[in-house]
Amino acid sequence: MKMKAAVLHSTPSTLSVEELEIADPGPGEVRVKIAASGLCHTDWETMHGYQPVNLPAVIGHEGAGVVESVGPGVTQVNAGDHVACSWSPNCGHCFYCDHGQPILCEVAKSSNGNGVLFDGTTRMALDGEPVYYYSLVSSHAEYNVIPEQAAVPLRKDFPLDRAALLGCAVMTGYGGAVHAARIKPETSVVVSGCGAVGLSAVQGARISGASIIVGVDVNPLKLEWAQKFGATHVVDATKDDPVEFVREFTEGRGADYAIEAAGQNISIRQTLEASRPGARIVLLGKTPFGEEVTLPFHILMGEREIVRTSYGMSRPRVDFPRLANLYMDGRLLLDEMISMRLPLSEINTGFDALEKGNVARSLVIFDSSGSV
Ligand SMILES: [Zn+2]
Ligand SMILES: [Zn+2]
Repeated sequence: MKMKAAVLHSTPSTLSVEELEIADPGPGEVRVKIAASGLCHTDWETMHGYQPVNLPAVIGHEGAGVVESVGPGVTQVNAGDHVACSWSPNCGHCFYCDHGQPILCEVAKSSNGNGVLFDGTTRMALDGEPVYYYSLVSSHAEYNVIPEQAAVPLRKDFPLDRAALLGCAVMTGYGGAVHAARIKPETSVVVSGCGAVGLSAVQGARISGASIIVGVDVNPLKLEWAQKFGATHVVDATKDDPVEFVREFTEGRGADYAIEAAGQNISIRQTLEASRPGARIVLLGKTPFGEEVTLPFHILMGEREIVRTSYGMSRPRVDFPRLANLYMDGRLLLDEMISMRLPLSEINTGFDALEKGNVARSLVIFDSSGSV
């Protein structure tokens, strides 16, 4: 069938909204009618050529919608289910899946790198030529065909536009705080970078019961948001030294947990320096592909544990429904994270706003029927 999608033909470039052919779901696959798709910084990096991808491609990896049809042999999802897309579906039988680390699935990694599904091919075409996937999701489109493992069913009273946010930013930040840092109650946490991922880490710290949560950013607007999401203190890194600031609130030692979500060399260094000896440090941000991160050795001393994770050490099929419950219980703020809602035709306007830095999250909304 035909659908509209935002296509990336070359880099650096904006997206072009075009009509593509999308195939029926194959064995073990489902076709989702996308309701909302979040504009992630990783999309922007891809459009600017910071990450090598096969082109042309439909990008977008933070989507939610309703399952329109299922392929042969699908057992985990039914037509009509509300789902959020996971960009890390696991095959269930590779080395990492067998070793209890499904987030590292080799089949997903290889498919992801080649812009295809598990069988090595794509389901989208433009004038008969293949159009590649992005992160096994490709949600800046009216429909996607994805492995059933990538379609995570959610309760139907959870709004689909907010469900989209779970697919990348919220899972990454919340998981970074809860699964990777493993924050305990009555502890201190510093979160560097208060965009959508950092704000979700602040929420993870709040929900975990941390008593001191310091948000660090260079944008005053993001610091305001950090306070709304649970930061007990904020520091503008253009005015104050975040390391000194954190030490002031932690009896001179530094924070028990330190989470980096800005993806910059200076921020990584400051985050490490703001942690106390014995702290657990979680790196969520990405520096440009191939860029080196250098750290003086003294920062690595003191039995600090450093963890790098891209998806908050998540198990999406377990975690997405839990996050939906947290939202429905009023404990996880998502409405406040949505800065702009745009039609697909204005997707490049959304990325312009992202580049300027004054949005937490923008969403492309496909369905105006009231289901989002
Ligand atoms: Zn993302
Ligand atoms: Zn696997």
